[in-house]
Amino acid sequence: MQNKILIIGAGLGGLALAQGLVKAGFHPTVFERDESPTSRLQGYRISIRSLGMHALAALLTPKKMGHLSMAKVADVGDGFTCANEKMDPFFSVPQGQDAAVQFLRSELRALLQEGIDIKWNKRLVMFEDNGDQVIAHFADGSYADGDLLVGCDGGGSIVRELLPSIYGDRLGSIPKVTDSNRAILGGQIDRTPEWDMLLPLNKTGLVRFLGPNSHYMGVCFSERADRSPTVFWAFSEEVKNRNAPWYQFDQGLEYRTRILDHCKQLMKNEPWHESLKKLVYDTPAEGIMAPWLVSTTQFPDSDQFPMAPTGRVTLVGDSAHAMPTERGLGGNNALEDARVLSTLLASSQEPVGWPILIEKYEREMFARARIAVQESESAAEYFRNLRSHS
Ligand SMILES: Cc1cc2nc3c(=O)[nH]c(=O)nc-3n(C[C@H](O)[C@H](O)[C@H](O)COP(=O)(O)OP(=O)(O)OC[C@H]3O[C@@H](n4cnc5c(N)ncnc54)[C@H](O)[C@@H]3O)c2cc1C
Repeated sequence: MQNKILIIGAGLGGLALAQGLVKAGFHPTVFERDESPTSRLQGYRISIRSLGMHALAALLTPKKMGHLSMAKVADVGDGFTCANEKMDPFFSVPQGQDAAVQFLRSELRALLQEGIDIKWNKRLVMFEDNGDQVIAHFADGSYADGDLLVGCDGGGSIVRELLPSIYGDRLGSIPKVTDSNRAILGGQIDRTPEWDMLLPLNKTGLVRFLGPNSHYMGVCFSERADRSPTVFWAFSEEVKNRNAPWYQFDQGLEYRTRILDHCKQLMKNEPWHESLKKLVYDTPAEGIMAPWLVSTTQFPDSDQFPMAPTGRVTLVGDSAHAMPTERGLGGNNALEDARVLSTLLASSQEPVGWPILIEKYEREMFARARIAVQESESAAEYFRNLRSHS
């Protein structure tokens, strides 16, 4: 296939799309702002349900699909328990019921990188669209031209942000990704037999501990990229000031220490179970991850697709539909976006009628994502109410 496809972002959505396109005979190029595949600490796990697994089966070659089992995390449980801050459970979903597969993010990302042309250290800063071609400009002064540019650049997408200034009055309906005023701060510590004893509810899987003051903590057993077992925790709080130092991150130890100190301070004066306090207090600053400011999406009332009138630019994953993490649907939908888009491209005839093809993709993607965002927001509200009425 001669069409040049530029993918912005080597996250789950961008890499999955690249895999699907390569399988269909395209030669896409992925441009990623990270300096290298390992420049970001990504220890935690991701839960992929039937939607995402079905998408992966379509996107990957049978050989790569076979390798997927190596990215699974072992001995961590796939059940779910919701409890209060004193570790008294509200309810549990037993293991095996959700049929989700637990993957190590770093391994899944590594597998999705195999055989893909990725240009690292390429931060997109601008693009142009002359109707026949799209030209991507990067922070280092370089550029690339192509027939289609796909923004897979996450919740803070610059591709989405640039759409109004590039297409003006001709712009279709674009989603509005907004702050949901919550942040997730987390880290990991070596999993020793002591932790299995101190965290009994975690034996069957992830536990969400709902605390006072709209604070909650997700705790699960996981693994590092080198497969050493860990306990992963993620503390969630309402954001009062986005510019607070603990929401900034530059990988340095000083920043990680600041985030850790903030979490310790928050827990100090609240009645959290001693084991949960210990988990945070004992975590070394090196184990702290980048903070995640949770976003959600407001969808346009009118469905005017394609967003870019030329059909030369579209979005995949969180850039199109960021959502709260409570249902674990964001990554699954990013994979499904990739499947739908690559399938449409694979079945297209030359020359490609870009506006019609991309309109088809965007209609399906936004209808599905709208439901996923609603479900995720309802779940977030359910947990808030459960704690405040208990
Ligand atoms: C704590 C937590 C737990 C979660 N658990 C689950 C779960 O269990 N199941 C699930 O389905 N989902 C889960 N999610 C959501 C899931 O992680 C996201 O929905 C998914 O990662 C979105 O993939 P993406 O490719 O759209 O974006 P990302 O994974 O954010 O990737 C975007 C990529 O674009 C790059 N980029 C950004 N800007 C530029 C630029 N200007 N130029 C070049 N590159 C750029 C970034 O560096 C990044 O590599 C969870 C999220 C969190 C925070």
